[in-house]
Amino acid sequence: MIHDARLSNIVIVGGGSAGWMAAAALAHAFEFPVTIRLIESEDIGTVGVGEATVPHLRAFNESLRIDEVDFVRAVRGTFKLGIQFVDWGSIGSRYVHGFGTIGHDFRGLPFHQYWLKLHALGKAQELGEYSLNTAAAPRGKFISGATDVPAASPLAQVAYAYHFDAGLYAQYLRRYAEARGVKRIEGEVVDVQLRGDDGFIESVTMKSGARIAGDLFIDCSGFRGLLIEQALKTGYDDWSHWLPCDRAIAVPSERTGPATPYTRSTARTAGWQWRIPLQHRVGNGHVYSSSYLPDQEAADTLLNHLDGRALAEPRLLKFTTGRRRRMWNRNCVALGLASGFLEPLESTSIYLIQSGIARLIQMLPDKHMSEALQDRYNAEAAFEIERIRDFLILHYHATRRRDSEFWKYCAHMSIPAELDEKIRLFRESGRFYRNAEEMFALTSWVQVMVGQHVLPQGYHPLVDQLSPDKLREFMASVHGVIANCVDAMPMHQAFIDRYCKAA
Ligand SMILES: Cc1cc2nc3c(=O)[nH]c(=O)nc-3n(C[C@H](O)[C@H](O)[C@H](O)COP(=O)(O)OP(=O)(O)OC[C@H]3O[C@@H](n4cnc5c(N)ncnc54)[C@H](O)[C@@H]3O)c2cc1C
Repeated sequence: MIHDARLSNIVIVGGGSAGWMAAAALAHAFEFPVTIRLIESEDIGTVGVGEATVPHLRAFNESLRIDEVDFVRAVRGTFKLGIQFVDWGSIGSRYVHGFGTIGHDFRGLPFHQYWLKLHALGKAQELGEYSLNTAAAPRGKFISGATDVPAASPLAQVAYAYHFDAGLYAQYLRRYAEARGVKRIEGEVVDVQLRGDDGFIESVTMKSGARIAGDLFIDCSGFRGLLIEQALKTGYDDWSHWLPCDRAIAVPSERTGPATPYTRSTARTAGWQWRIPLQHRVGNGHVYSSSYLPDQEAADTLLNHLDGRALAEPRLLKFTTGRRRRMWNRNCVALGLASGFLEPLESTSIYLIQSGIARLIQMLPDKHMSEALQDRYNAEAAFEIERIRDFLILHYHATRRRDSEFWKYCAHMSIPAELDEKIRLFRESGRFYRNAEEMFALTSWVQVMVGQHVLPQGYHPLVDQLSPDKLREFMASVHGVIANCVDAMPMHQAFIDRYCKAA
């Protein structure tokens, strides 16, 4: 009986990053015989963007036992220490949101509490100078623990992610998945059949007329949500009143200098522009709100702010920020853009695919698709994306910019209650409470709050237990260690050339 209910036939619809990440991870996870098929259509193609990541992707690759050097070469990748935000807090301001730590905790208090006091006394360096990532990034330095750095050195602990060519990553994972038995089916799905009794998806029909049946369907079909929305009518929570950008124009450009070890995000009058360095080119895009900026002007702004020659025609993408009401509905789990989209400001979409896959494997159902498992999955997925949403809203809302109608709207819009509480707490005395499993940790929130001019009026009372001399000594020693480490790091481009240059 038990064996009869076991999943034996999984169908993934879509072969973008989401589809091939799911295929690779499931092929790796299953030891008992399960048929995994992936349907994709070359005519429809993929969204073709999604080139900046967060450090979690390293764990995903490691779990698949992917060799880092082989991977970085194959995807023509570079390393990412964080994101440089230009003109976000106010025109002319800049800060780096770096991965990793700022200083280190001391006597049970987070480092930034000591910084707040020294800053109030006018004696502190910029916050970023106390963090390896944020001090190294603008100086173009990078190192990873994969080199022969002694394990005890802070240089062995640098937190980093990748920039990569998304198309090459999908191809890389396709080779991985196909080598482990995943069957790829080329063609377009034109119809979806639902079972009469429980509304489960029974099969999909291809343009060729072939019908493909399955126990579990994974919808990776992109914004259209072919299964989760068009067939199952799951519904979508629209968040554009909080995250008002609804379009992006993307264009690759020629590389003109050494690759920087960070993504750059420059705020514009009705949105922002990304710059993502790869080994062979630079990825660029302008994310904006069509209510405040016409497409032509958005394209002109983008093209006028490239480092080098554009290598293709700019591509327009339209989206609505928000999430699918249930990311798992009946026998369908949506991953990637089919499950929702927060705009790319903090490069979190690929991370959400990864965590959706991990959650699915944790909560792997049988053919009955337990409602309890579905509810748990959906609750966790909703919590996760909502906390990331709040972090993104912070960037737009906590700004001194009032130079356009767009920024005035963002500064004055009402925000989710949990975010409001976080800002109020931090503004008072730099306190921050991480809510259970939310993705972004204290250091991320502190860097963005301070970078966007949310400066606390006070600090934790126990900081005063350290005498002013001891405080200066402690802060100077942290700064000294960071400065020495940054000095010892090679240039990012030299690191790539030495260890993982693409052919
Ligand atoms: C402007 C922009 C910038 C982004 N930047 C980042 C970033 O820097 N970092 C990040 O993590 N994420 C980013 N993302 C998100 C990232 O691009 C996606 O999360 C990721 O590419 C996954 O996309 P996907 O696989 O869900 O969808 P897609 O790439 O759209 O793939 C959909 C797949 O479904 C197939 N398909 C669709 N309909 C059918 C059909 N009827 N029959 C057969 N096949 C079908 C298509 O052929 C394709 O293979 C960005 C997104 C946008 C819009």
